[in-house]
This record gives sequence, C-alpha cells and structure tokens, in this order.
Amino acid sequence: APTVEGRLDLDGNTIKAMKICIIGAGGFIGSHLCEKLMEETPHTILAVDVYNDKIKHLLDPPRPDGRIQFHRLNIKNDSRLEGLVKLSDLTINLAAICTPADYNTRPLDTIYSNFIDALPVVKFCSENGKRLIHFSTCEVYGKTIGSFLPKDHPLRQDPDFYVLKEDTSPCIFGSIEKQRWSYACAKQLIERLIYAEGAENGLDFTIVRPFNWIGPRMDFIPGIDGPSEGVPRVLACFSNNLLRRESLKLVDGGESQRTFIYIKDAIEAVLLMIENPSRANGHIFNVGNPNNEVSVRQLAEIMTQVYSKVSGEPPLEVPTIDVSSKVFYGEGYDDSDRRIPDMNIINKQLGWNPKTSLWDLLDSTLTYQHRTYAEAVKMTLAKPMTS
Ligand code: NAD
Ligand code: UDP
Repeated sequence: APTVEGRLDLDGNTIKAMKICIIGAGGFIGSHLCEKLMEETPHTILAVDVYNDKIKHLLDPPRPDGRIQFHRLNIKNDSRLEGLVKLSDLTINLAAICTPADYNTRPLDTIYSNFIDALPVVKFCSENGKRLIHFSTCEVYGKTIGSFLPKDHPLRQDPDFYVLKEDTSPCIFGSIEKQRWSYACAKQLIERLIYAEGAENGLDFTIVRPFNWIGPRMDFIPGIDGPSEGVPRVLACFSNNLLRRESLKLVDGGESQRTFIYIKDAIEAVLLMIENPSRANGHIFNVGNPNNEVSVRQLAEIMTQVYSKVSGEPPLEVPTIDVSSKVFYGEGYDDSDRRIPDMNIINKQLGWNPKTSLWDLLDSTLTYQHRTYAEAVKMTLAKPMTS
C-alpha cells in the first residue's frame, strides 16, 4: 500500500515496523484495529483469540506478506501466551467479558476475565521489558458526583460535577449487592496493578478507557450470529429490534446518558498510541466523543429514523416501550448515569480529536446492519417456531 513506506510519528521520526501481539483480536475493537494495521501500516500482528469470525477477511486468503497470524488460544490456560508476548515489541490486551448483561448474572466469570486472566499478560510484559497497551473502560468512573445531588440542584449544570477526568475524577460504584459494578471494580484493580508495575518496576504501559465505541461488527444479533437469548450491548439490542420491527426496549425509562464514538475515529487514537510510545507511555487516556451525547431514549429515536431511511421501511408505529432493569437484566443491575470524557490529556499528548457525528456514524452502522442481517432475520421470522 502506498501509505506504508516512510510514515512519520508525531515528532517527525520514521516509524519502524513492529510486531504486535493483539489479545482479543477477534472481537469488535480487535477486528477494526487489525484492519487498520493491515491497510495503513507496515506492522505485523500476532492475533490471539478463541474466535476469528470477525477477522476472517484478513486471514483468508492468507496475505502474501504474512503480516497477520492467528493463534487460537484461551489466555486462561495456555502456556503459549508468554512466548507470543516475548516475540512481540508491543502487547495490546483487549480480551474481556464486557457486556453489561453478564456483570450481574455472571459476576465470577466477569471478575476472573477482567482481573485474574489479565494478570499474566501484565506480568509477562513487565518481566520481559515489553510495552503494554491495556484496554480498561470508562466504567471505572462509575457514577458522576452530580448524580448524588437533588434533581434540580444548580451544581448539576457545573461540568466539575459530571465531566470525567483521568487524573482527578474519583471512581464511584454502588454497593456490593449491585453486582453490575463487578466489571468496573475488576477493571479498576487491573488499572491500579498496571500503574503500580509502572511505578515500581518500570513497565511501559498505556491504559485506554473507551467511551461507548460503536460501529459495524459490534457484538451479535441474537438468533442470527449469537444465542437467541443473549443480550448484547445497546447498539446490537436496538439493531435487533429494528431488524425484527419490534419496539426498542428502554431500560428504566432510557434516561441514562452516553456519548457514542464511531469505531473508526477511536481506532485512529489507538494507532497514535501504538506509533508514539514516548507520548503514550505512562498515560491513561479517555477515548470518546464528548459532542455526541444523548439519552438512551434519544438514541432509540435517532436509530429509528436512521433505520427507516437506510432500509426504506416506514418507522415503527410504537417505536419504544419501557422495561424495568430488573426484568431486562435481572437482580443486581445498576447504571452509570452520564459519561462525558474530558479530552485534555489525549489532546495534549496525541493531538487527537473525534470527527464523526452521531447521525453519520449511525447512518454507516445501520447501513451495515441492514445489509448484513435483514435477509437472515426475514428468513427466521418466516420460519414457523419449532420446539
Ligand atoms: P469484544 O467482546 O467484541 O472483544 C473481546 C474479545 O476478547 C472477544 O473476541 C473474545 O473472544 C476475546 N476473549 C475474551 N476472553 C478471552 C480469553 N480468555 N482468551 C482469548 N480471547 C478472549 O469486546 P470489544 O468491544 O472489542 O472490547 C474490547 C476491550 O475494550 C475489552 O477489554 C472491553 O472491556 C473494552 N471496552 C470496550 C468498550 C466499547 O465501547 N466497545 C467500552 C469499554 C471498554
Ligand atoms: N439499554 C436499553 N435497552 C437495551 C439495551 C441497553 O435501554 O435494549 C441501556 C442500558 O440500560 C444502558 C445503556 O442502554 O443505560 C447502554 O447500555 P450498553 O449495554 O451499551 O452498555 P453501557 O454503556 O451501560 O456499558
């Protein structure tokens, strides 16, 4: 590819080809990262995952330059992992259980996956003097300080009470009974451990806190390429409802607010971290789009309009219905009220800014969902139910 040769980093130095071990490379973010690295850089990837469906197009047919190799292994129990980390210049760990429906219903798997299983990766990097980019989450911030004020309190309008800053915001979780926070708490502890490895043993690390990255290939459509009873994240839940012409389900009124960022914008930030180690090492970065804030209810309304446009079908007569979190997610669910990333640190270190508006990113994403799934969903709807 023409862009691969003579690429420069942010300080004007030529970027050397690296070998990168990407754990969780077969997931949503991993698939976009692999694609970007293959298309625009000279780097080589050792792609580790238990699945590879989302990167099949990069593996098959095999590239003549052999720049991506897939290693099917479960990092829970596979001694080959250390060798792969040792072979690489950089390890990126994306592997995790990271769908809210699991946090309160499979808290043990969630904690093991996000903390215990991530430990050896940190250890292998630290012991072998290798760089680590670890994927955490914006959920480590938990709830905003403002959420504890009375509903009409004027300080709720003050950004100090809701904007989330890497170096100063506290991490505010609910009680232990609210098992929703098992994920956030495990991610917080692994962040603290990585930070401590940096401080005490000189590990070169970068921690990424994604704020609702969305786009094609996120999660699965229940009953099509995932379990019929499965509950994916909101983009896939709402896509599934739209594909089946069912009302979109608003959990507890859909009042929680989120900022959504297009996966392709977010991947630009990750590439800058990969290629500018001196600017990224030792930092924790929020990666999100503060300009794309909506309530979940507003997200449902916009997705309904965009889907109608891309599919040519009329909008649903009853676009949304309310459902309690207890019915939808079960006991122990709780929610982050609001998530606006502060962008100062990533701006200063990497000069990065998100670009794509919510409408535009939903337009591309729902075009993909329609093209990929509409036919298959119609077939299953046409089939009589069997037991
Ligand atoms: P994903 O579920 O699509 O990808 C995770 C991948 O890791 C999957 O392909 C899975 O098979 C793999 N994996 C899990 N356990 C494994 C194991 N034991 N061995 C080998 N592979 C394993 O999720 P994603 O959205 O791509 O998220 C990637 C990372 O980013 C996660 O750490 C997640 O917590 C974090 N994150 C993502 C978002 C987002 O907006 N998408 C938000 C916050 C945090
Ligand atoms: N949500 C919803 N309906 C759904 C799925 C999710 O109202 O069908 C809500 C969920 O309660 C949360 C928000 O959408 O307030 C975002 O959920 P997601 O699963 O994407 O993950 P989160 O941002 O909470 O990590």
